[in-house]
Amino acid sequence: MKLTTKIIIALIAGAVVGITLNITAPGVFSVLDTWLFSPLGKIFLNLISMLVIPIVLFSIILGFNGLGDPKNLGRIGVRTILYFIFSTFIALSIAIALALVFKPGEVGEFNTSSASFEAKEAPPVSETLLNIIPSNPFAAMSSGDMLQIIVFAGFIGFALTMLGEKTKGIVNLIQQGNDIMMYLVGVVMKFAPYGAFGLLASAIGSQGFSAIKAMGLYMTIVIAALLLHMLITYGGTVYFLGGKRNPFKFFKGFSPAMGVAFSTSSSNAVLPLSMEVAQSNLKIPKSISSFVQPLGATINMDGTAIMQGVATIFIAQVYGIDLSFGQLLTVVLTAVLASIGTAGVPGVGLIMLAMVLQSVNLPVEGIALILGIDRLLDMARTAVNITGDAACAVWVTEAERKRKAKLNENPVQ
Ligand code: ASP
Repeated sequence: MKLTTKIIIALIAGAVVGITLNITAPGVFSVLDTWLFSPLGKIFLNLISMLVIPIVLFSIILGFNGLGDPKNLGRIGVRTILYFIFSTFIALSIAIALALVFKPGEVGEFNTSSASFEAKEAPPVSETLLNIIPSNPFAAMSSGDMLQIIVFAGFIGFALTMLGEKTKGIVNLIQQGNDIMMYLVGVVMKFAPYGAFGLLASAIGSQGFSAIKAMGLYMTIVIAALLLHMLITYGGTVYFLGGKRNPFKFFKGFSPAMGVAFSTSSSNAVLPLSMEVAQSNLKIPKSISSFVQPLGATINMDGTAIMQGVATIFIAQVYGIDLSFGQLLTVVLTAVLASIGTAGVPGVGLIMLAMVLQSVNLPVEGIALILGIDRLLDMARTAVNITGDAACAVWVTEAERKRKAKLNENPVQ
C-alpha cells in the first residue's frame, strides 16, 4: 500500500477512534491517550523533528551552492518573497470576504462576559526580521531558530560557491550528510501512519464537542476559505504559472506531506517530508526546493492568515463592533505581518492573532472564544501553509526553466 493511502487511513481511523471514545467512554480515552495515542504521536514528532535542523542546514547550503551565480539567488529570492506576500493577500481577501458575507459572529450566543485571555507578549515582527542574522549560529541551531539557520546556511553556501574547487571536499561531505538525512526521512516515514493515528486520536478525543457546536459556522467559514484558497490560488498557480501542470496531480503528489502536516500541526516538523515529496513527486529541483520550502515554512503562512482574518471579523461581530474599510485594510496588513512572524509550530498563529486584534482596538479576550476549537483548525491551516510553499516552488521552477530555455542554458539541477 502506498504511504499516502496509509496516512489517509490512519487519519480517518484516528478521527473515528477519537470521536467514538470522546462520546462513549471518556475514561477509556484518557487511559489510552496516556499510554498509546500521545506516546505514538510524540515518538513520531520527535523522530521527524530530530532531522529538521540538519536537513535545513545541509540542504540550504547545497541549495545556495547549486544556484551558482549569486544573481540567481537574488532573482529566485525576489520572486519567492513576492509570491509569499501576494498569495497571503489573496488568502486574507477570501477569508475576510467570506466572514463579512456569512457573519459567523452574529449567529448564535457567545458568552463574552466570562471570556478572558492573557495575551502572551508576541515578538514584534520588526524584531524577528532584524534578528535574522545570528550572532551565534550554534545557539540558533540549538534553539531551532529557523530564520537564523537559513541565513547562516546561506552565507556558507555563498562562500562555497565563491571558493569553488578549493572547497569541493566540504561540498561533497555536506552532500553526503544530506543524503544520510534524506535516507532517514524515508525510514522515519514508515512510522508516519502510526504517528498520524496517535496524534489525531489524541487531538480529536480531547476536544469538547459542545464547543465545536457553538463554533460551527466560524469553523465552516475558516475551512471553506482554506479550501477555496487551495483550489483557486494554488490550483491557479500550478496551472497558469507552473506550465499548465494539472492541479489535481499537484495536490495528489503533495498529499503525503499535507497528511503529516494535518496530524502534526507544524510546518517545521513536516519540512523534511515536504521537501522530499516536492523533489520526488513534483520534480522540483533540489536547489529551488531547498531555498523556497524552508523559507516558506518559516514566513509563508496563508492558512494562518486565513484563520486570523476570519477570527478578527468574528470577534468584531460578537462584540458588536463595526469595522470601517480602513480598519479592514489595517487587518489585512497586520495579518500579513502576523503570519510572517508566526513560527511553524502548533498554536502560534493564535498568539499572533492578538497583534491583529490590537491593531484595530478589538478586545484580545475574544481569543478565548476560539481557543477551544483552534487545535482542529490548526491542523487544516498547517496543511495549507506548506502547500503554498510547494505551489511557489512550482512557479519558481517553471520561471527558471523558461528563462534557461530562453538563454539556452541547462536548467537548474
Ligand atoms: N501550526 C501552524 C504551522 O506550523 C502555525 C499556526 O498557525 O499556528 O504552520
